[in-house]
Order: sequence, then structure tokens, then C-alpha cells
Amino acid sequence: MNYELKNIILRKGKEESLGRFHPWIFSGAIHHTEGGKLEEGDLVEVLASDGRFLAIGHWQIGSIAVRVLTFKRQPINQAFWQKRLAAALDVRRAIGVAEREDNDIFRLVHGEGDNLPGLVIDIYGATAVMQAHSVGMHVCRNEIAQALKEVMGEQLKAIYYKSETTLPFKAQLGQENGFLWGESHDDVARENGLAFHIDWLKGQKTGFFVDQRDNRSLVEHYAKGRKVLNMFCYTGGFSVYAMRGGAELVHSVDSSAKAVELVDANVELNFPGDTRHEAFAEDAFKFLEQMQEKYDLIILDPPAFAKHKDALHNALRGYTKLNAKAFEMIQPGGILFTFSCSQAVNKDQFRTAVFTAAAIAKRKVRILHQLHQPADHPINIYHPEGEYLKGLVLYVE
Ligand code: SAH
Repeated sequence: MNYELKNIILRKGKEESLGRFHPWIFSGAIHHTEGGKLEEGDLVEVLASDGRFLAIGHWQIGSIAVRVLTFKRQPINQAFWQKRLAAALDVRRAIGVAEREDNDIFRLVHGEGDNLPGLVIDIYGATAVMQAHSVGMHVCRNEIAQALKEVMGEQLKAIYYKSETTLPFKAQLGQENGFLWGESHDDVARENGLAFHIDWLKGQKTGFFVDQRDNRSLVEHYAKGRKVLNMFCYTGGFSVYAMRGGAELVHSVDSSAKAVELVDANVELNFPGDTRHEAFAEDAFKFLEQMQEKYDLIILDPPAFAKHKDALHNALRGYTKLNAKAFEMIQPGGILFTFSCSQAVNKDQFRTAVFTAAAIAKRKVRILHQLHQPADHPINIYHPEGEYLKGLVLYVE
């Protein structure tokens, strides 16, 4: 070996999940460490109690103590990152989201789903927005940025690093958002032929909800002649697709005034002067309570109600309450798109919450589609925790 790593030795029997290629090691599985004091973000070699090599990963303080990068003994250097990023790009080519004239918004790296736990990279035209969720990825950011330049080639002009709010607060890294390489002021990118301003400087996540691309297309498919309510609209992705689909009217609602500005700008960018659209800065429950218009297509895409397992019960009640209101208000023959992006809420729990809501509103409801995250947010088969976005499309008689 041409490099020395500190070692983590697991308790007896705790190597089993690694045998199934699960990429996390919990702190309780660790017996002791060797080779000196560990620093947060260090690369470590993980060994079984009998000294057998198991994996290399990033060490971090917390319940997930190691995020595994590889189950092979190999150097973690720029060539390693380059290989992983190239593999991720191959997947995006295969599913048809990359290298397209009409679509230059896609997720290139989705953490564990791309065997890069703790790292997210979204592409917006010539700008890549990179986000570290682990200290280890933060430490490696410049090497990764270099590898990203190599893999993306000419088409990439800038890399923006947006990890101010995603890195563990306690690590006190004091990281500020900013460009790691290049600079870009062109904030417009395309999704399925529609243009969007991407606010990577201040926006939520990496600036846009890339994960709703396919589900937005389905809204477009159902929108013709309908009166659409896009609740929790943020940048208005669903609204713009509904307009292209021939909606009669589209109302976008978000409690954030900034989001309402963004949706108005995005509607203007695609359909200048179109009077079918109106946006409201209002709380969802208040809006649904005092609703004037009779909608027959409603989209509910709320923020994660449960960020942790402890919040599960309240989250499910929240989903039921919200959906019940929509079921009560929607016109006969209406279509409801309802989502949950809480990782702590599973598909069955969400479905039960929506089922309860339908029963409360006493409506006849058919499930037309069961939706999930798109193919550029892949789930590592050994890491089922990577499944987070769930949706139902319902026909309300
Ligand atoms: N559907 C969006 C993403 C939604 S993110 C898209 O496709 O891009 C969730 C949004 O809900 C955020 O913009 C947030 O400002 C908004 N929000 C949070 N709480 C809210 C509330 N009580 N009422 C209305 N909007 C709310």
C-alpha cells in the first residue's frame, strides 16, 4: 500500500451488514481504533475483529460513524473520484437525461445511490452544484471538483459548492457557499424543453427540485382543460408543466414570498403575459380553508413532515389532515397528485395516511399511479434507506 490509513476494528459479528454491502457503519459496531487519533472526515480502513479487511470509508462523529466508499483495498484519490463520477454519468446517459438539447437539468450524483455516500451533484446547464452531507466529502471537495471537470469536459463552466446547511453543524467547519471553480451568472437551465431560473445561491436544496421531473410530465399529461392548484409550489415546476399541458387555470401557492417571486418569474420565462396563472403567498391550510376556486387537479408536494423517526406519528397526522382537506375540496372527477418526501415515512405508511384522509372526506377514490423518485436519483439495492420520494395519483369520483 502506498498510503497509510487509520484503522477501525469492529466488534465481533458486526461485519455482517458489510457482507451485504450496506454502506453505513454505526458507532455501536466499533470495538476500537488503531493508528492514532481520528479526525472527523478521515479516511479509515475498516477491519473485522479477526483483522480481515472489510472496507474503506469516511469517519464522522455521530450515529453513522463510517460511510463506506469501497469494499476493495484501493487508494482514494482523484482517479478514484473520476471513475465513480464517470460511472454516474454513464447511468445518466443510459436513462436519457444527460447530453440532450432540451434537458440540461439532472442529478449526476445521488449519494449512496451512486456509491458516493455524503455527496450530491446536480447539473444545471453549464453549472454543477455540489453538496457535501459528510465531513469526509467536504475534506475531498477540491479533488472531487477536479475529477468532475475531467468527466464533464467542455460543457461545464463552473462548480458551485453549496454545503453551508448540509454539513454537520457540530463539526464547526464554518464553510460558506461559493464557487469552487469558474463562475456563472446565467441562471437559466432547461427541463424537458421548459426553462427555469435556478437559484443556486439562496434556493432550497441545490436550487431546484430535480426529483419531480417525471412526475411533472405526468401532471402535464392530465392538465388539459383543468383548473389546477399547485400547493407548495416552490419554483413552480408543476405549474409550468400544467400550463404547457393546456390547463385552463393554474394557481400556485407557497408560504414563502420568495417562492412566489420565483414561480412568477418562471411562468413569465415560458409563457410571457399568460393570464391563466396566478401565485399566492399563503399558508397551505389557510388557503385550502378559504378556497374560492373549484379545482379539479390538485398537487400537494409538502416539505418533509418527518425529518426523523421520532416525528413519524405527527407527520402521518399532518399528511392525513392535509389530504383530507384536498379530498373535501376537489371537484368530482378531479385528480389529486399527493407526495411525501420524508425518508422516515415509508410507502405503506403514506398510503395509509392518504387512505384515512379519503375516508374522512367520504370520497370514492381510485389509485391511478404510484410515483417515486426518478432514475437519476437511483437507489442502491443494498441501501433501501435511499428510497424517499413517494406519490399517489388519485381519481376522486
Ligand atoms: N413542489 C415543489 C417543491 C416543494 S418544496 C417543486 O416541484 O419544486 C416545499 C415548499 O413548501 C417550500 O417551497 C416551502 O416554502 C413550502 N411550504 C412549507 N410550509 C408551507 C405551508 N405551511 N404552506 C404553504 N407552503 C409551505
